[in-house]
Amino acid sequence: MPSNSLVFAYQNVRVRLIVYVALILVGGFLATNILSYQISKGTIRTTVLENELPLSSNTIYSEIQTDLLRPIFISSLMANDTFLRDWAINGENTPDSAIRYLKAIRDKYDAFTSYFVSAKTLKYYHFEGISRILDASAPKDKWFFRVQNMREDYEVNIDSNNEQGEALTIFINYRVLDYDGNFIGVAGVGLGLDSVARMIKQYQENFRRRIYFIDQNGEIHLDSDTNPAGIKNIRRQPGLDALAVKIVSNNTGAFIFERGTETVLLTTRYIPELKWYLLVELNESRATKELWNSFLANLAIGSVVIVLTILLISYTVNIFQSRLEEMASTDKLTGLGNRQTFEIVLKQALSQFERTKLPFSLILIDIDHFKDVNDTYGHLNGDKVLKKFATHTRQLNRQSDILCRWGGEEFIILAPECSLGDAKRMAESIRNSIRDARFVDANPEHQITISAGVCEIIRGEDGNQVISRADTALYTAKKNGRDQVQEA
Ligand code: GH3
Ligand code: MG
Ligand code: MG
Repeated sequence: MPSNSLVFAYQNVRVRLIVYVALILVGGFLATNILSYQISKGTIRTTVLENELPLSSNTIYSEIQTDLLRPIFISSLMANDTFLRDWAINGENTPDSAIRYLKAIRDKYDAFTSYFVSAKTLKYYHFEGISRILDASAPKDKWFFRVQNMREDYEVNIDSNNEQGEALTIFINYRVLDYDGNFIGVAGVGLGLDSVARMIKQYQENFRRRIYFIDQNGEIHLDSDTNPAGIKNIRRQPGLDALAVKIVSNNTGAFIFERGTETVLLTTRYIPELKWYLLVELNESRATKELWNSFLANLAIGSVVIVLTILLISYTVNIFQSRLEEMASTDKLTGLGNRQTFEIVLKQALSQFERTKLPFSLILIDIDHFKDVNDTYGHLNGDKVLKKFATHTRQLNRQSDILCRWGGEEFIILAPECSLGDAKRMAESIRNSIRDARFVDANPEHQITISAGVCEIIRGEDGNQVISRADTALYTAKKNGRDQVQEA
């Protein structure tokens, strides 16, 4: 049946249309969102690596420099103090006076310790007394002989006291010379680098950065992370191990590496005063958390938009489809089913007859001398008559009877489970009712009559054969003078 296959074709197109639109929307939407997420992520990476992390390390570095000024200044004062030099040159007599001096320095500057080591006697004086005599062959005393031979005025030594976490003490070993410029010992103080430690902690807390130092060997010092992974050397840490050589062979560096499931952004910077490298880390997920959230929000909004769009499209398509189907199946003037509809109905009735053996009947109706109506009252009035005729006849039918416009001023009724006798009675009652009704507004006297051909389906008959019999009966009715019902 062409109309049925047409409906199927429409449904196929509709499903395909909705699938394609959904694919295009989802694809396009995902592509733009993922792309913009990636681009923004790239921008954030660059900003973090090129600006934010280097800024942190610059600030920390200048804080270190400021913190170093004081101990260097105090040590320099000690190294140039005429009392201390004279006392050493004159044979280190009355050690108590030197010890008092060291204690005064310690107290005045709130130092952790103050000391003087004599080159002549190798005695280690500090603020509480003489602790011991240095041993040139002992590794822990090597520093003194290094300072003895160095060209610079002083060196900076850091004791990071890893066991206590952040306690950072800085020792300044200042060379002491006699008045002829000969090396006579080392003077110095140990001071806590408190403000640096504080600042590192602050960065950790406020900006979620991990800040720590490594020495040339990759040993970690002063880790701001309170729970650092067990291994205290970056050369043995998975992820960082591959970068260790690069980090200690460049003054500055920017790296991206993976630690477990995290992507870590890292900048490094050499701090010459400490001979350490300052490492500032940020987990990328922290930097891109908001971006990720807005990506998810975009996805959620987009999904809603896509679902609404698809609902709207399928709703619109459904409306158009049902309109099209209606237009294809109904007669515009009377609102009755048209000839195509009747063919579908007849086909269904035939197959039902085959199954149930219950016969149906056809009544083919033609309005008598309808041409005269048109000719007398005009085509528009003729249309009105056709409309009224349709409404009137439909009201006379049973619910199950199907009335269609067969064409022009011809109508057809399919009466299911209806014998020839019943069909004839039905046709007669319609004929009488039409005759009594008045359909021509322009002339209420004008009587409309109909002729009808009636037949009942016979086993083995097809659609054309049964219609053709009804048509023959109608022809007989016309021939015998109209306004009558004939059977075949
Ligand atoms: P008969 O009794 O032999 O059927 O005479 P008739 O005049 O009804 O038959 P005929 O076939 O000669 O004319 C049918 C007329 O119906 C001719 C045509 O103009 C008119 N007609 C067909 N369709 C329409 C329509 O939709 N509107 C109007 N107003 N007239 C129509
Ligand atoms: Mg006709
Ligand atoms: Mg006619």
